[in-house]
Parts: sequence; C-alpha cells; structure tokens
Amino acid sequence: MQITAPKDWIEEYKKPLVLAGPCSVESEKQFRASVLPIVDNVDIIRGGIWKPRTRPGSFEGVGEKGLQWVKSLKEEVSFKFATEVATPEHVELALKYHVDVLWIGARTTVNPFNVSELASSLKGVDIPVFVKNPIHPELSLWKGALERFSKAGITKLGAIHRGFHTYEKKKYRNAPFWQIPLELKSEFPTLPLICDPSHIGGSSDSVEPLAQRALDLDYDGVMIEAHCDPSAALSDAKQQVSTASLLEIISRLSPRDASFTKKSYLDQLEIIREQIDQADRELLEAIAVRMSLVEKIGEFKKENNVAIFQISRWKEIFKSRPDWGKQLNLDDDFIVDLLRLLHQQSVKKQTEVFNTIEEEQNYSND
Ligand code: PEP
Ligand code: MN
Repeated sequence: MQITAPKDWIEEYKKPLVLAGPCSVESEKQFRASVLPIVDNVDIIRGGIWKPRTRPGSFEGVGEKGLQWVKSLKEEVSFKFATEVATPEHVELALKYHVDVLWIGARTTVNPFNVSELASSLKGVDIPVFVKNPIHPELSLWKGALERFSKAGITKLGAIHRGFHTYEKKKYRNAPFWQIPLELKSEFPTLPLICDPSHIGGSSDSVEPLAQRALDLDYDGVMIEAHCDPSAALSDAKQQVSTASLLEIISRLSPRDASFTKKSYLDQLEIIREQIDQADRELLEAIAVRMSLVEKIGEFKKENNVAIFQISRWKEIFKSRPDWGKQLNLDDDFIVDLLRLLHQQSVKKQTEVFNTIEEEQNYSND
C-alpha cells in the first residue's frame, strides 16, 4: 500500500501539535467561552459541528449555523479551526466556511463506502485531513481509509489514535491497544500521528497521563477536548477538561526527543539493549522448555486416553499466573494475554502430538 504523506506539512507547527477545543460547538456563547482562554496556547481549535451519536435523540450538533459562529469569532481572533466531516455535504459546507483542518471520525473510518465518497469530495482540496482509527481494532481498515484519501490526492494527511471498542472489562472508554498505532507508525514513519486521549480515556482525569504516554511514544501531537463548563456540555461531558485545566496540562506535557544524540547516552543505550537481548534470549529458552514439557504431557494424555483440554486446569492456570505476575509487578492484562497465547500454542502442540501418535498407530496397524 502507498500513502504519500510528506511529514513536512506538520513541521510548520512546533512539536507536539496541540489540537483542542470543545467536543461540540453548542452555542455562540459556549464556543467563544471555550476558545478565547486557550486560543493563544493551542495550534488548532477543534469543535464538532455535526455529531455522530450512537442513540437517536442525543445532541447531534448545531450544523451550518455553528460554522457561522466560528467565522465570526475568527474575525475577532486569529485561529485555525478543525471539525469532523462525515458526508460530502459536510465537506462542501466546511470548505464554504473556510474550515482549516478536517477529520474523519471513527464511525466513518469503518465504512469504506463512506470513506470513498468523502475522498472523492475532497479531490483537489489542499487542507490537512486527519483520519481517526476505526472503532474496531483493525489496522487494515485504518490503513484502507488513509490510502483512499492519499489516492484522492490529499497529501496533508495524518492519523488520530482515539482507541478501540472492546467487550472486555476495561479501564478506559476505548482500549488504547497502543501496538496498533505503533504498527501504523512503523509502516508509515512520515505520516503524522496524533493521540486523542479524551476519547481513549473517557474521563477528564485520564487525559493528561494518556497524552504524556503518547508523547513518550513519539507521537506528533494530541487532540484534547476542552470546554468552558464541562459538566454542562451537551456531548462527552465526563471526558472534557476545563479550559483552565487544559492550559495546565499543556504546560506540564513534556515532549521527548525522537532519538538519542549524545555519545554517552548512545553507549548507555547500547548496554541496556544488550541486556534486553539477553533477557529475550532467556525468555525464549524458557518458552522452549515449556513447549517440550507440553509435548511430554501430550504423549502422556494420549497414552492414557485423556482429553487435551481440561477446564479445571485452564481455570487454575488463569488464576495462579496473574497472582504470580502481580508479585513480579507485571500487569494482569498482560499476563492474561500472554497466557492465552501460550495456552493456544500448547493446545496446538498437543494436538500435533495426538495426531502423530495416531498416525504411527494406524501405520503399525496396517
Ligand atoms: C469527536 O472527536 O468528538 C468524536 C466524535 O470522535 P470519535 O470519532 O473518535 O468518536
Ligand atoms: Mn467527543
């Protein structure tokens, strides 16, 4: 796949790029009060004009009149404005009102038909377009949408990581699954990557730690929802920070260097990397030992005509290992994911053992 996305368009901004503003533009008064205190400290003001809502009857955005309020405020103070577009009509209106930056929402990225229509409506348009990750944890959908915009000639492209829906019990509104955006980044190192900690966390408290985490991972910027009076917000009230907290958060965020430059750091880095290599080698050796024991137990079960999968053992493993992990300061979720992988591989190995023994028996019976 090809994504022609020169990073230089984002280089006109100081890293990290800060996109912030209310989830929704609700009224002229609310928009002014949410923008004026932060306008000097953020690069791009955000505000939803059309809101994709899961349930009918929720606030669905103010539509075109909101663009009029944005235009009037721009006559008073200078700022760049970004909003979400989900249909070609939205694109047309946004362009008519000179919206500076567009983003494609998570509910749109999941639908290749919508994305194609939007991409066609954006042909020949030279403004930045950010594509939020799809709701489902599927990298290919995200890449597909980016590719469609790239093919339509949008070169000022970027990706926004806003977390993924999952049915598992979770700490955040949307699971971050950091490995997905990082995979995107490693495949397209020149594509700007922004984190939306508001939609990942779903609560104002988690915005700052998630934003910092993204900067630690060398993201190019953050998109944060900030409102003049979060508790009265018509959408996403729990996750919006006040304009005052936004300013504090911005002042505390610390961007990291993309890589080490000083020789002494590089030497130190080499030493730690060697230690990591060694630890990985030991880890793989331990897994190899586990797998040979698994083969042994497979033979034993087959000889005694016992089923491979035993629910009581499975439960016991999934209870004891997270406890052991905890004593070693390892996250529960991580241990459970790791065990699932190990267990899957163990079942596969034992099935192979069963099949091999069976084939040998059939052979000797022939
Ligand atoms: C938003 O940014 O307000 C929004 C609706 O986001 P998402 O598409 O990530 O849910
Ligand atoms: Mn929102």
